[in-house]
Amino acid sequence: MKKALVTGVAGFIGSHLAERLLLEGWEVLGLDCLSDYYSPQIKRANLAQLIGQPGFSWLEADLLQADLSALLEGVEWVFHLAGQPGVRGSWGSEFHSYLRNNIQATQKLLEALRSSSVQKCVYASSSSVYGRVALPMSEHSPTQPYSPYGVTKLAAEHLCLLYAQNYGLPITAVRYFTVFGPRQRPDMAFTRFLGALGAGQELNILGDGSQARDFTYVGDAVEGTLLAAHQGAAAEVYNLGGGSQTTLLEAIAILERVTNKQAHLRFTSAQQGDVNATLADSSKAQTQLGWKPHTSLEKGLELHAEWQARQSLQSLQRLTPNPRPPLGDSRRGRRVLLYSHDTFGLGHLRRNLAIAEHLLQRDPPFSVQLLTGSPVAESWPMPRGLKVQALPPVVKVGAEAYTSLDPSLSFAAVKAQRETLILNALADYEPDIFLVDHAPAGMKGELLDALELIRRQMPATRTVLGMRDIIDRPETVRSLWQEQGIYGLLETGYDQILAYGNRHLFDVVKAYQLSPALAAKVRYCGYIARTLSEPLEPNLQPLVLVTAGGGGDGYVLLEGYLQALEQRAVAAHSILVPGPFMPEENLRVLEQAAARHPQVEFIPYTTELTRLLNRADLVVAMAGYNTTAEILAARKPAILVPRAAPRAEQRLRATLLGELGLAWVVQPEEDLASRLAELLPAALAGARPTGGWNTIELGGVHRVGEVLEELVHTSAVEVL
Ligand code: NAD
Repeated sequence: MKKALVTGVAGFIGSHLAERLLLEGWEVLGLDCLSDYYSPQIKRANLAQLIGQPGFSWLEADLLQADLSALLEGVEWVFHLAGQPGVRGSWGSEFHSYLRNNIQATQKLLEALRSSSVQKCVYASSSSVYGRVALPMSEHSPTQPYSPYGVTKLAAEHLCLLYAQNYGLPITAVRYFTVFGPRQRPDMAFTRFLGALGAGQELNILGDGSQARDFTYVGDAVEGTLLAAHQGAAAEVYNLGGGSQTTLLEAIAILERVTNKQAHLRFTSAQQGDVNATLADSSKAQTQLGWKPHTSLEKGLELHAEWQARQSLQSLQRLTPNPRPPLGDSRRGRRVLLYSHDTFGLGHLRRNLAIAEHLLQRDPPFSVQLLTGSPVAESWPMPRGLKVQALPPVVKVGAEAYTSLDPSLSFAAVKAQRETLILNALADYEPDIFLVDHAPAGMKGELLDALELIRRQMPATRTVLGMRDIIDRPETVRSLWQEQGIYGLLETGYDQILAYGNRHLFDVVKAYQLSPALAAKVRYCGYIARTLSEPLEPNLQPLVLVTAGGGGDGYVLLEGYLQALEQRAVAAHSILVPGPFMPEENLRVLEQAAARHPQVEFIPYTTELTRLLNRADLVVAMAGYNTTAEILAARKPAILVPRAAPRAEQRLRATLLGELGLAWVVQPEEDLASRLAELLPAALAGARPTGGWNTIELGGVHRVGEVLEELVHTSAVEVL
């Protein structure tokens, strides 16, 4: 086994080079002082890839203090990558570390090489030795460094070449051009940009972003370094540049593509010492070393971004400071994190609160946290003991289209913030169960990282999807799930699927054509509905509740109801609740129209909908999941007026209940006002829909509690 010494082995490029040498069968001795220019933790993580590999050993030592002659014994090749990088830091008081680690350390190594039998030494020089010369930069271009860093790299390079010339030492220098890829230093642009993109923060651009660089993928730089050891002539320098020029703004556009995230740029003043452009003429390396870069900027950035995403997941897991509750705590093993994306209406929030309320009241109680994107969460009454983490709200504006509720923030920025909050909640709370409402991948895939974190790092956490039975036309759901890879996600990302419905009414396994493996995960829970246990005072006269749920598109229903009252007077008091999301102009029109009817009360916003519904003698409502479930649970006569679009969900639900004789239904094509005028007197005269309530399972929250109970029990056994 031939032996190579790599100085700076814990650094970005050094760790890749050592890995490659080991692959090629070399014995590698690494040396690094783990300087604190950036976190030594990161350097240790780089080393962790190497430690334990056969043939690898390393020494934590400073080149200027180590016994280099002893270290060089038996070494055939030396790769000298240790140094103090960074243009910015080289101005001012830190210059001494550039002098020390770049020039003095190199000089000491060169002296040691004089009395060694080393056959080749490759020095890691830099494009910074050129400064602002004409492009492309060739080895014949003048060297006019534009930063103190460049000056020290050039001085060290000169030292290498003059030791080669004076003492016949086999030393070759390679000049790297802005190297990137996995493990890139945290002070370098792409790592910083990817970090900011991941955290939804602004990208800080020094200058106007027009500065151009010849970016080189780390694998290509390593390849060129090895070829220089094999073929490079002594006292020669070789450019190793990716071969194309890209501005910072162009590179950011690529980062946006590969991360699927939108960048928000903040421009600050340009950096002293930053040259406008670099571009390598690497023809000498091509002809004399046989080197050619293989990895395009786009491909390299994909690899870089993938690595960085994995890093952030791992560091989140390392950052879990919250100890588990002590053994005697009855909530041990009973933590549930609920996710409710809440991008339209009130349905998700209401369903999750019904579940949370029950879980908190079970004996022994679960500990429950709720992640909700609902803009009304703050004013909505929350069950006691529920911890709520608000996600910045987004609003659904069309099929698969969303926008931020805060106009100063882009959708991409909000999504990134939400992703980070979700990951942090998982890492801090370490739930035993992560119960996701309705959207398996979360809003626009915002849960994918979270599910991955759980899969890789949180083996004790069980993932559960809670889905309402009817989502849309089955064929529409199936093709959307195919397109979005939801079937695969359900296979790999979820332990259990809770169907919030009744199998004999709507079979989700059949409707969505779930595979046998997925079907085995499904548990039917019955409908989830909040029920009231306390008695209600009797009404003095019949009461009709007209509710449009969240109210986003409820205008038609309320307007139709008021018109019906004009066609046919009814002997009842009516309460109209438009809902918190009804557009302001609709609200005003309805309020004025309602004021013309003395028997009509108009309540723009209430959190007491369940109570009102339980008081009512007749409910006129759209056919959203929660309202319908509460109507069924309270066994109220109801007239359902489903919306027609964008989903067929309400129409399917209302039609089903109409066919079962559990509600009267006015379909979207019918003349709403006259149909209501027809139905209202009969409904108020005591006529009831004809169906049997007893066939419907409505105790969904209890069933959910039982299933979660079973899950924590089995997971506790497995973890033991
Ligand atoms: P890095 O900082 O990640 O690695 C350098 C390593 O050298 C560090 O781990 C540091 O602890 C170690 N070191 C510093 N002084 C030392 C000393 N006195 N004794 C022992 N170890 C010491 O940097 P990098 O980006 O991997 O760069 C490696 C080399 O390539 C550097 O010499 C740098 O100047 C040169 N270079 C890098 C780039 C680039 O784009 N990354 C471009 C041109 C040149």
